[in-house]
Amino acid sequence: MSVYDRARRHAWFMAGALVIAILFVLVVERFFGHSTIAFGIAIVGLVAGNTRMSTFNCPKCGKNLFFRGIFVVPWPNRTCGKCGTELAPPSD
Ligand SMILES: [Zn+2]
Repeated sequence: MSVYDRARRHAWFMAGALVIAILFVLVVERFFGHSTIAFGIAIVGLVAGNTRMSTFNCPKCGKNLFFRGIFVVPWPNRTCGKCGTELAPPSD
């Protein structure tokens, strides 16, 4: 499996985690009223889940797939933004 595929899988995982985090906060607010703690737990959970993001790097130059220059985007680069290496399999 290419680094792009694994990064894309992680992007989907984070999208799902974001939905669950939002639902979690909404449910807590619905049943227990406004809760800063629930919000904090959701944020910490998302940040913890996203630490894996830093492991998806270009095999050639080490640039992270989720970085576009200084910006971080939720979807990985298909082609390395630094050295131009094709990160996605040609069949994809
Ligand atoms: Zn590269």
